[in-house]
Amino acid sequence: MRDAMNVRKISFPRYAEYNCAFKYVFEEALEVRCITPPAITKRTMELGAKHSPEFVCTPFKITLGSMIEALEAGADTLMMVHGLCRLGYYGELQEQILHDLGYHFDFINLSEYDMSKKKEYIKIVKRINPKVHLARFVAKFMEGVRMVEYLDEITAIYYKNCGFDPTGQYKAAYQRFLTDMYTARTRSDIEDGYRSVRQAFQAVPLNRPVRPLRVGVVGEFYTVMDAFSNLELEQKLADMGVEIHRWMNVTHQFLHNHGQKNMAVKIKNLCTYEMGPTATANIWYAKECAERGFDGLVHIKSAGCTPEIDVMPVLQTISRDYKIPVLYLTYDSQSSDVGMMTRLEAFYDMIHMRKKVL
Ligand code: SF4
Repeated sequence: MRDAMNVRKISFPRYAEYNCAFKYVFEEALEVRCITPPAITKRTMELGAKHSPEFVCTPFKITLGSMIEALEAGADTLMMVHGLCRLGYYGELQEQILHDLGYHFDFINLSEYDMSKKKEYIKIVKRINPKVHLARFVAKFMEGVRMVEYLDEITAIYYKNCGFDPTGQYKAAYQRFLTDMYTARTRSDIEDGYRSVRQAFQAVPLNRPVRPLRVGVVGEFYTVMDAFSNLELEQKLADMGVEIHRWMNVTHQFLHNHGQKNMAVKIKNLCTYEMGPTATANIWYAKECAERGFDGLVHIKSAGCTPEIDVMPVLQTISRDYKIPVLYLTYDSQSSDVGMMTRLEAFYDMIHMRKKVL
């Protein structure tokens, strides 16, 4: 139900920490009310799995569960992204499932729009809020984009360094930054939050060894970035004293991916064709890490993710050619913390001993 002002209450499936930027764009650029979906929990996963086809990939189940929780929290409009794999069909199916469950809502499925055309973006904007002033929208939207860039930059710095701070100050500064982004209402709020976390990071004395263990993380777009989906793999590995490097994020993949063509050239000895939405980038980055002498690679994917299954034999070739160990992790709705920790600890012990010997 709309409120007295007939303002939309819009929501979306939760995704890593990008929710703060979605919120900013909906509220400040589109001037509608944003119902930020609740944090993903076991219940979200169970709700999604219960109402999903059994063999669909895990991001489908988590995003469906998250949309159910957003509707329960009062949303009257949902937005679903488009994608280059099966993700492109997910919105349609999820809308049907949610209607069959008895929910009433307006569904904005970006797969129904041709996202290569500017006029389609205007159609989406006008559908969400016909009264919006386009020039103001563009200015505010770009501030939301800036937030995404800062989020990706700070997250990369955080996982690279947090494993060397025994005091916990690094983590506290990162959490404060996330709170600042979730509560930002203006451009200066975003800039202040960014400046303050940079200063806080610099002030923390790090206990970094001369040659720390370095691990590159590659994988499927949703699972590799969403900490709930990958059972906080990056934090767990960092807590063991490992420097974490991950190229895959929204900024690199969508906002500043000027090098996509060059990537294909750099890996032409490994694969001839484009194999999926993130395959080229993952293979390229795995090769980069191997050439830079990293101590290991972790490949993350959801169960049933065909594009990333295709990447695995190529990673095996990289592993053989560059003598770099690869840990393959597949996640589904039954994945447990204990099982993952066992494999992670074994992987850590192996790369740690290997580094000593080498
Ligand atoms: S990339 Fe894989 S896991 Fe992600 S939506 Fe596509 S098929 Fe599913």
